[in-house]
Amino acid sequence: MTEAKKIVTRFAPSPTGFLHIGGARTALFNWAFARHHGGMFLLRIEDTDRARSTQEAIDAILDGMSWLGLEADGEAVYQHANAPRHVEIVEQLLAEGKAYKCFCTQEEVEAMREKARAEGKPPRYDGTCRPDGDTVRHVDGAPFVVRFKAPQNGETLIDDAVQGSVATANEQFDDLILLRSDGTPTYMLSVIVDDHDMGVTHIIRGDDHLTNAARQAQIYAALGWDVPQFAHIPLIHGADGAKLSKRHGALGVEAYRDMGYLPEAMRNYLARLGWSHGDDEVFSTAQLVDWFGLEAIGKSPARFDTEKLDNVNAQHINMADDADLVAETIALNDALADYAAPLTLAMPLLKDRATRLPDLATDAAFLAAKRPIGVDDKLQKHLNEENLTHLAALAVKLENLDDWSRDAIEALMKAYMDENDLKMGKLLPVFRAALVGSSQSPGIFDVLSLLGKAEALARLSDKFTR
Ligand code: GLU
Repeated sequence: MTEAKKIVTRFAPSPTGFLHIGGARTALFNWAFARHHGGMFLLRIEDTDRARSTQEAIDAILDGMSWLGLEADGEAVYQHANAPRHVEIVEQLLAEGKAYKCFCTQEEVEAMREKARAEGKPPRYDGTCRPDGDTVRHVDGAPFVVRFKAPQNGETLIDDAVQGSVATANEQFDDLILLRSDGTPTYMLSVIVDDHDMGVTHIIRGDDHLTNAARQAQIYAALGWDVPQFAHIPLIHGADGAKLSKRHGALGVEAYRDMGYLPEAMRNYLARLGWSHGDDEVFSTAQLVDWFGLEAIGKSPARFDTEKLDNVNAQHINMADDADLVAETIALNDALADYAAPLTLAMPLLKDRATRLPDLATDAAFLAAKRPIGVDDKLQKHLNEENLTHLAALAVKLENLDDWSRDAIEALMKAYMDENDLKMGKLLPVFRAALVGSSQSPGIFDVLSLLGKAEALARLSDKFTR
């Protein structure tokens, strides 16, 4: 029995900007697929475009992946560093007659394209320098590029795990450049050589690369290399159905971190952008790894929906460990560091109400608020003479309450309201005004209990004593 080939995937971003949502999803799919199969997930920084690649963008990609928990196996590969190897392969193709030197000038190539356009054909290189039998064009001392001698007849077939079998007539393709006149390899060549050398078995990427795949398959064939399994995933669209772009407010993943989304919620939501497991909308990362497969990637573009992301995030906050959330909340408001004990007690209530992490800090702020509590305009009107009389009377009763639990407080207050024929809706805003000063907190019985008896009574008496 032969051992199955170890699965190797890679994420190959060009470091020209932040790690956007589409890139993060591509990374996640490659990661989940590798993890599912116990394979390897590699990272290759495609920094061959020296003018546009920046260290800042490399850092943003690395930080974004680390925040998302998509750690690559081994060191990142920097494509630019492999240039000598890429050139070596071009030389091999030249020696084997599978590539040729092209001495046409830029102006000549532009004229060919113009001519094709005028004839209503796709702009292309016309093959002037392509060797014909033994005739090889050579211009002494002139600069040249190296072009791939692409097959001209028949068709190139891609077996894509998402798109199915995709055939392209070879006459569609002109002879693409492998090596520029300055001796630098082109992206199309580098990507093939690197994927081969890194042992990549599966290439999962956006379907904007599908046409490249056919050209790449031709070069793989010329080199006698196995073509990796392609899986071209439909791009993500915005709510309006157009390709997701900055226009839709599409941001780098660090912006989602700063807005208070949890990495596990992002993994969950990003996975659902194009992949599905039955009707499951909310799942853990372990489940994702367990379930992930290419066959369940859809063919139509998924739409990015902030409301859905919020919903998934709220559910992951609810499932998250209380101690972790306490730490996150203190990180957002360090005044809460002195209130870790009541914050921990409050966390089950806080996380039930929160959509994003800052909601936890906002709803917990009452714990650290300093007396006298400032009251917002909406609540201030509840602090009228009549209500304050009730507040004072209730404060006396509360003062005599020994069991400072939420339930005992609730029973005492309900009894008072019944005796005085008062509705909850009348007295609760009065307590809210005095204890919190705004509508941002858990329920009032919980607030009373969490503040502790002394602090709660002090806040109440601040309002009715002049
Ligand atoms: N560097 C390419 C990009 O960022 C990806 C190439 C690939 O995945 O093959 O779009």
